Amino acid sequence: MPEFKQPTTEQDLELAFEQLKPYMNPTMAYYESSRCLFCYDAPCVTACPTGIDIPLFIRQINTGNVDGAAKTIYDSNYFGNICGKVCPTEVLCEGACVYNHQDVKPIEIGRLQSYATSQVIEKEKRLYHPAPPNGKKVAVIGAGPAGISCACELRLMGYEVTIFEAKKHPSGLAIYGCAPYKVTNEDVLDEIVWLQEQFGFEILYNHPIHSAEQIKSLEAYFDAIFLGIGLGATRPMSIPGENLENCYGATEYIEQVKISPLKVRVGKKVVVIGGGNTAMDAASESARLGAEEVTLAYRRSKEEMGAYEFEYELAKGVGVKGIFNAVPTAILGNGQVEGVRFIKTNSENGRVITVPGSEFELPCDAVILATGQEKKTGFLSLIEGLEWNKDGSIKVNVETFQTTNPKYFAGGDAVNGGAEVVNAAAEGKMAARGINSIMA
Ligand SMILES: Cc1cc2nc3c(=O)[nH]c(=O)nc-3n(C[C@H](O)[C@H](O)[C@H](O)COP(=O)(O)OP(=O)(O)OC[C@H]3O[C@@H](n4cnc5c(N)ncnc54)[C@H](O)[C@@H]3O)c2cc1C
Ligand code: SF4
Repeated sequence: MPEFKQPTTEQDLELAFEQLKPYMNPTMAYYESSRCLFCYDAPCVTACPTGIDIPLFIRQINTGNVDGAAKTIYDSNYFGNICGKVCPTEVLCEGACVYNHQDVKPIEIGRLQSYATSQVIEKEKRLYHPAPPNGKKVAVIGAGPAGISCACELRLMGYEVTIFEAKKHPSGLAIYGCAPYKVTNEDVLDEIVWLQEQFGFEILYNHPIHSAEQIKSLEAYFDAIFLGIGLGATRPMSIPGENLENCYGATEYIEQVKISPLKVRVGKKVVVIGGGNTAMDAASESARLGAEEVTLAYRRSKEEMGAYEFEYELAKGVGVKGIFNAVPTAILGNGQVEGVRFIKTNSENGRVITVPGSEFELPCDAVILATGQEKKTGFLSLIEGLEWNKDGSIKVNVETFQTTNPKYFAGGDAVNGGAEVVNAAAEGKMAARGINSIMA
């Protein structure tokens, strides 16, 4: 089991967050691309939410046409480099590779994808030219993967696009959420700069849209509005002690790790509550930042966790321990977190039943709640006629991504309830086509 000390320098950070999928060199890419069987009706293509022509780009790499490979990738997915690094390829393209049936390691599709796309980014290669202006203007709210993908596709069709972004960096959770050992902030920002140079959309940073007046003025100026607003803050558990110092929401904690990793206060004994991928990330990141003991606590059984198996394996690999069938009833402490009180549970017909008299306490000095993200229904209620589902996800037409207010389109986490970067990229692009189908 690797041991990490609290990083105090950039070099320490590089070690702690060593890339899981480092860039290939040309020899590695040539060798790996030679292994592809170029299947007819390739299952990897069907498994990719953006439908990249994977056999084609791998053949292009293999024949030395790296720019062509990058073009094949970007024609389907504007987040080509980022997705190559952060996609859960084990359950998507690589999970579908026919080699898996023969006990042979699948082709490293994600790394080949990043190999090709990073090269055109690095040499600032121009692959796209926007169409001449068509006289129509679209506002995009949110510069996450959904919003930026929508903007790229619209620019390709000649729309003028302005993105309004609340934060000071683009790419949403790609930069503020995705684990630092999957992708570096530099790689994320480089891809967005390259996209902006290719497509010429405008991003207004530190520009949250939060009032009915702002919405009215956008509606008056723009022909259509795309909502790529993602999800909200960590959902509270409503148990005593949640407001103690050193009790953090996972998305807020991870945002700190991503933006100021050397300033994050990491506990010595950390308890992470939750069983999804965000819980695994929060636990892994705490361990890599030098926590001595990290315990993941989930209210159901290990088998019922929502996290991908490989994410749990990653966390275990850096020393994270799991306790299952235990639900917290209180965060303990006086000003600062001192522990968590749990009660044991059983799962019966999908329901969590607590076991009377089974309470126990786990001492710790930090708690991270990975209990899911809230939906932004408060914001949505400012838009006339816009409807959302019971779970707070925006209602859309599944083909055009048009909402119940015909001027608005939406995609990404705000619509799918929280998925992956690749899904947001796919939906943003489809929504741009939806906008065009209504306007043309
Ligand atoms: C901790 C964590 C780790 C993750 N790890 C991975 C991973 O490894 N791989 C993977 O594929 N996916 C991962 N995901 C999921 C992935 O990041 C999201 O599915 C994806 O970013 C969603 O894109 P989006 O554009 O819909 O929303 P977001 O990425 O959330 O972007 C929304 C943007 O809109 C802005 N915004 C919101 N409201 C307003 C407003 N009113 N005005 C102006 N701007 C606004 C926000 O500031 C943000 O920039 C992770 C998510 C989390 C939380
Ligand atoms: S975008 Fe993601 S799922 Fe699609 S081929 Fe690339 S790495 Fe695989």
